[in-house]
Amino acid sequence: MFSQFALHERLLKAVAELNFVEPTPVQTMALPPALEGRDLRVTAQTGSGKTAAFVLPMLNRLMGASKPRMSIRAVILLPTRELAQQTLKQVELYSQFTFIKAGLITGGEDFKVQAAMLRRVDILIGTPGRLIEHANAGNLQLDEVEVLVLDEADRMLDMGFAEDVQRLGKLCTAPARQTLLFSATSGGSGLRDIVASVLKDPLHLQVNSVSQLNVGTRQQIITADHNSHKEQLVHWLLTNETYQKAIIFTNTRVQADRLYGRLVAQDFKAFVLHGEKDQKDRKLAIDRLKQGGVKILVATDVAARGLDVEGLDMVINFDMPRTGDDYVHRIGRTGRAGGEGLAISLICHGDWNLMSSVERYLKQHFERRTIKELKGTYQGPKKLKASGKAVGVKKKSDGKSDKKSTVKKSATKRKTVNRPKSDAPALVSRDGLAPLKRRTPTAPAAE
Ligand code: AMP
Repeated sequence: MFSQFALHERLLKAVAELNFVEPTPVQTMALPPALEGRDLRVTAQTGSGKTAAFVLPMLNRLMGASKPRMSIRAVILLPTRELAQQTLKQVELYSQFTFIKAGLITGGEDFKVQAAMLRRVDILIGTPGRLIEHANAGNLQLDEVEVLVLDEADRMLDMGFAEDVQRLGKLCTAPARQTLLFSATSGGSGLRDIVASVLKDPLHLQVNSVSQLNVGTRQQIITADHNSHKEQLVHWLLTNETYQKAIIFTNTRVQADRLYGRLVAQDFKAFVLHGEKDQKDRKLAIDRLKQGGVKILVATDVAARGLDVEGLDMVINFDMPRTGDDYVHRIGRTGRAGGEGLAISLICHGDWNLMSSVERYLKQHFERRTIKELKGTYQGPKKLKASGKAVGVKKKSDGKSDKKSTVKKSATKRKTVNRPKSDAPALVSRDGLAPLKRRTPTAPAAE
């Protein structure tokens, strides 16, 4: 029950209007200390209900003050435009019975119109790059900011916004400022630096450990011989699986465009989203997907970050993501707010070791699945190390040819097993859980 929280009655009314009955775990954990004014560092996945966990206490604080609305009093920083737009929509829903006004500042929109808007809003929602441009132009006054939120902070750093975030934090000079930082993973040293310099004595809340992520999502792998075999598998899955909406991830723009072309040629209604698409195309793709006119999206990681599309219940990893964190972000699209989902990774010879690192990172063993009519020759490495990785497999693979796995007969004395051990010792990662390789040297260029 939301009435357990010390929230203003107009906010409780908005929550009731949205038919939220029970708070989600992140809301239960974060709302009380946030309402007391504490700085928080929260590790919670996308789809957990974390937006309400920072927006409700922010609105509550802004409503309590008797200041006239002449300045920006809260800022929410996010990594992408889409995420900023989605957050604005949520803020508008939660603030619908208040007089609080929120505005959006992202790239790709008119700079002068934005400059004028900056003088009329209480809550500013934006991406760091464009906000810095406004700061440089002298348009941004942040000295009265009472609440600063850094959402998807790990991704903002991944996208190179560390310096901008630090600088914007410094511009928020009000001594009683509260800072709330949210990230899907616990991040690396970059995130620790931000926490140390921008937050004050934060309470660290870990809502889900990575291994507990997506309990409502079945995670499967299907082995494939090469990329055209993967394309056949995608076609089969999109035709035979039951899903409302599906997203297919590739590691490169080129692969995304190629797969999209194939799907359209096969009469699937699909959209493609990657970093080269302009703002209009991106908005159209997301709107169509939300409205249900299109059920399939082909996307790269950066482009799909933070998408909150209802009914997105199937994720296909055409390419295995390069890091465990990227995997977590990708499958975070399914099974949102308690729903069920299916995540399927297509694994060629060159994807195997990445997949096995991700299994170790998550401390999970993905279900092995075979599609009878599309069974290929590659069924995974013949011999596995205790880590679950292939024995003696050369690192390089172009994903096109499935050379027989290069198993060395006696070159290694290491113990081999038939199955990867799900309880194998953890490796070190950004999460401090596993030394997961951030990138394979052979991986194609990032988006
Ligand atoms: P978020 O993690 O903030 O992106 O939220 C994911 C989705 O969960 C959004 O569509 C929210 O509207 C929804 N949501 C948030 N809190 C609740 C709740 N307590 N009950 C039901 N749905 C919720």
